[in-house]
Amino acid sequence: MAGAVKTTCCYCGIGCGIVVQEDRNGQLKVEGDKDYPVNKGMLCSKGMNLHYTVMDSSDRLLYPEMRANRYQPRKRVSWDDALARTAAVFKTLIDKYGPDSVAFYASGQCLTEEYYVVNKLIKGFIGSNNIDTNSRLCMSSAVTGYKMSLGEDAVPVCYDDIELADCILVAGANPAWCHPILWRRVEAAKAANPQLQLIVSDPRITQSSALADVHLQVMPGTDIVLHHAIGRVLIEQGKADHDFIKQHTSGFAAYRETVMQRSIEEAAEICGVPAALIIKAAGMIGRARGFLSMWTMGLNQSVKGVHKNLSLINLHLITGQIGKPGAGPLSLTGQPNAMGGREVGGLSNLLPAHRSLENPAHRKVVQDFWGGGAIPEKPGLTATEMFEALESGQLKAIWIMCTNPLVSLPDAKRAEAALRNAKFVVVQEISHKPETLAYADVILPAAGWIEKEGTMTNAERRISYLDKLRPAPGEALPDAEIICRFAQKMGYPGFDYASPAEIYAEHCQLTKGTNIDISGLSYEVLKAQRSVQWPYTGSSTQRLFTDHRFYTPSTKAVIHSFPDENESEALSPDFPLILTTGRIRDQWHTMSKTGKVGKLKQHIPNAFLEIHPDDAAARNIAQDDLVVIENKRGSVRVKAQLTSNIKKGVVFLPMHWGKILNSDLQRANNLTSNLVDPLSKQPDFKYSAVAVSRY
Ligand code: SF4
Repeated sequence: MAGAVKTTCCYCGIGCGIVVQEDRNGQLKVEGDKDYPVNKGMLCSKGMNLHYTVMDSSDRLLYPEMRANRYQPRKRVSWDDALARTAAVFKTLIDKYGPDSVAFYASGQCLTEEYYVVNKLIKGFIGSNNIDTNSRLCMSSAVTGYKMSLGEDAVPVCYDDIELADCILVAGANPAWCHPILWRRVEAAKAANPQLQLIVSDPRITQSSALADVHLQVMPGTDIVLHHAIGRVLIEQGKADHDFIKQHTSGFAAYRETVMQRSIEEAAEICGVPAALIIKAAGMIGRARGFLSMWTMGLNQSVKGVHKNLSLINLHLITGQIGKPGAGPLSLTGQPNAMGGREVGGLSNLLPAHRSLENPAHRKVVQDFWGGGAIPEKPGLTATEMFEALESGQLKAIWIMCTNPLVSLPDAKRAEAALRNAKFVVVQEISHKPETLAYADVILPAAGWIEKEGTMTNAERRISYLDKLRPAPGEALPDAEIICRFAQKMGYPGFDYASPAEIYAEHCQLTKGTNIDISGLSYEVLKAQRSVQWPYTGSSTQRLFTDHRFYTPSTKAVIHSFPDENESEALSPDFPLILTTGRIRDQWHTMSKTGKVGKLKQHIPNAFLEIHPDDAAARNIAQDDLVVIENKRGSVRVKAQLTSNIKKGVVFLPMHWGKILNSDLQRANNLTSNLVDPLSKQPDFKYSAVAVSRY
């Protein structure tokens, strides 16, 4: 049957609007939604090819499968049998070992309604906080940074601030490849306004840094040193806004003392950036009427991720560049609905509507609303902790939903060992390709994009409604329905929703009176308006903190001070190079969708190692030589790409590739460090010590 829907791209957190049309033969066509404020009709290569991922259904899971034990093959079973057995195993484990013996590991690709029900299930009814998602690998340092500085996980700005800024700092990110439509807006803003100054800090020369007026090619792990040095110059050159600091912040005196501890020359030496460029960048920020910053994994995925975030936010607080048009920090989310997940409290240390798990009054509000049992005070296991606990035997069962941890988690071989040791593994997926399926005792087939309805929130707090166009293949079900059916099998009340709209309405009620209040935002309003930025009290909110009252108890933003040392794993004579990982233009995450599209593979068909020519020469490595990258955790074997676009002493691997024909030799996470930031628990993907040699 022919039809058309307006929906949102299910890849990155920019959240572009898409019109999808289906003809009578089931052929799909996608185009950018010209009326959508985010992308105004534009789509990047990934978005433009989204329909191919749906039309090629050759990898789809069609029926639930189950195996009696590890020595038996999995067999097709009914939904009833799959969920009844899973419920029986969960009940047995919970009775024997307690509620913390089970866990859910979900995804920033889940719709808000899906996040909501799984969070309610484990926290409100099973009685454990063991839910975490792959957003932990992506945004948790930004979440903690916002909470510590602004009082809540609240992105203050909107994308329209790009056109209003006259200085933009992009830190540890390559949005030209990873958030392309946002970058088109930066390019257009710069073309329209030659006064707009662009600063990019990144250890690599990228398509983003190519547009910059100043490229600060920092050594990995030195971002805090760099931001502190910029802060020092701003203060010394009289560019700090002392009225704003006095009225609306706390902590400036200690900050000033901290940043004065290093000279600019010393900072320049540590960062590997000329002092003159640091001073030039600070001058641009200091002169700006509107200073906007953007960042992603280069800051977040670090053993010092929270402090890196805070050191950047501090630059806004000391200059008063927040809460006004064209100014403020804009964290770019890697996933389409990392924000929605945070709104419903879908991490092991959060509660719905940005309430605090450690606050007894907040726990009581939520548990009374849900009507289940007491929500425990103790935070649950985070992403990496879950796999460590499976390995040690402390955690018995894991339910993996909409994510591919054996490619995306750090120290992937350890994650494999953990799944081997698990007593019971449930995998809820759309595709039979993810590596995790090899370990599954139960496989639950899920509906995908345009096969279900729901909502997502993008990086500028914009909630959008995603419509359903066609049914899921076989017996696949929407993720929220799978979780609700399971909850009912467990005997829990409150999961008999008639529709996703009912789940959404319940979530909205829980936000009433909070800083993210969307209690008046029904599906009907959302469908009529297409998208809304929270909080919504009859109208959308473009910008937060325009009254300069922050969400801290004192209403003042907090300027934090901390040392600038990096604490990543040390380099050594055996492992003398810094490995950093990242994304390429036409692939997304672990390629389970983009890897199906021939056109997208043409850009870069295989993993590669980017290495500086001097580092290559010292190892007798030539262009396209097969090289081995190794450390104590594992090895990777790919072709070398010699380029002076990367800093000497640093090598780069793309993070997308997993196992190919049973070989994991292109999997970057064989090597990545399992150190985490102590505050956000986000892994240190951007800094691992490795050796490189010719194969
Ligand atoms: Fe999709 Fe992001 Fe590309 Fe927009 S920029 S089309 S949201 S992948």
